[in-house]
Amino acid sequence: MRIAMIGTGYVGLVSGVCFSEFGFDVACVDIDASKIERLNAGEVPIYEPGLDGLIERNLSAGRLSFTTDFDTAVARADVVFVAVGTPSRRGDGEADLTYVYAAARQIAKAMRPGTVVVIKSTVVVGTCRKVAEIIREERPGVDFSVASNPEFLREGSAIEDFMRPDRVVVGAEDERAEAALRRLYRPLYLRETPILVTSLENAELTKYAANAFLAVKITFINEIANLCEKVGGDVQKVASGIGLDNRIGSKFLHAGPGFGGSCFPKDTTALAATGLKHGAPQRLVETTIAVNEERKRQMAERVLAALGPETAGKRVGILGIAFKPNTDDVRDAPSLVIVPALQAAGVTVVAHDPEARGQAEPLLPGLEWRANPYDVADEVDVLAVITEWNTYRGLDLAEIARRMRGHAVVDMRNIWQGSDVVAAGLDYQGIGKTPLS
Ligand code: NAD
Repeated sequence: MRIAMIGTGYVGLVSGVCFSEFGFDVACVDIDASKIERLNAGEVPIYEPGLDGLIERNLSAGRLSFTTDFDTAVARADVVFVAVGTPSRRGDGEADLTYVYAAARQIAKAMRPGTVVVIKSTVVVGTCRKVAEIIREERPGVDFSVASNPEFLREGSAIEDFMRPDRVVVGAEDERAEAALRRLYRPLYLRETPILVTSLENAELTKYAANAFLAVKITFINEIANLCEKVGGDVQKVASGIGLDNRIGSKFLHAGPGFGGSCFPKDTTALAATGLKHGAPQRLVETTIAVNEERKRQMAERVLAALGPETAGKRVGILGIAFKPNTDDVRDAPSLVIVPALQAAGVTVVAHDPEARGQAEPLLPGLEWRANPYDVADEVDVLAVITEWNTYRGLDLAEIARRMRGHAVVDMRNIWQGSDVVAAGLDYQGIGKTPLS
């Protein structure tokens, strides 16, 4: 089976490469010529652990190609996946489906009869039917199928997630589409991965409901963390206590600076907007969005409070800018709110991130970058951890204390033991626990 993957971003690239690893012939298409050029030159445009090796192997096996030639890739394909971006639309927060519809129109013009068009992008309910309408409009009388196959991979563990998903969700309403997707995911049968085949609408809604639920869960534990701080509790203990309950589960119960990234903020906003549009307001989700926005600002205030009443001229060191570890993605990262808020108070901000500098530099003017995490501590009044990269966990805290001018550490991810930080001569403020000094 030949696949064309339209959109070679975080999802399209990983999915395309993994399908080629399953043995299918995959052409990854993008309108961004520089991205395709880099891929063809053996460079991987994003940071995703393990991706470079898989690309190399499948390129040399001749199963994987990268191209800007949309029409040829589509004309040769049995299955065309759409994995283009669906960002938030300015104004109303609904998902902007312009790229999806533009891709659908172009696919319609180039496809062979019998093609299965699969929407992998996260799209609001009703979009797949609209895509089918667009294709029918462009190619009246030509036989094709449209399916929905939302993606649940997480950046940073994307390959593992794609190869060993908890489930695959397929929205398919004809035999050809269902058979094509079952065949593509057959390699997962060995692992007995559940494949849920349902209607287009159910598949579209499942993706939003899953992301919104996880966002609510994170926000819930963040509010419990606030309460822990007031009453002498420890949110990590409380999270463990509830997480051991199978009905709750331990994942997504890590209190922190608020969720960010390329999915949760835009998908919660889109779900809330869809709910309002259809007269079914999603009030829990609406509140989650508001609480999460506020939380990022509160984190900046926490750092400012640690600086004392005079903030102008002070220096803050930041460890981690990406929205989470193991990715270079900074879309909607808490750091994008926290850093400018500190700068607005006259603070000089210095940062390190193992991978995100390239993406973040244009978005954070005035931020000073350091290539080494220890250098971030030099002469700073406060050191704050925003992203829990593993390399930060084992830093020599005594060395950090020696380099700092002040002695406050604000650990927004609870990566360190407060007692260790205090033993190094610093004051420690984690999330959802009593500050130590
Ligand atoms: P991205 O911005 O990294 O990539 C999208 C790519 O599509 C870009 O390279 C862009 O140039 C390309 N593109 C746009 N229009 C095109 C066209 N007409 N033809 C060819 N290429 C085109 O986005 P992403 O993070 O990969 O997300 C893609 C979709 O997957 C979104 O709907 C997102 O919500 C969803 N999703 C993302 C993740 C994630 O972790 N990033 C996880 C699950 C689902």
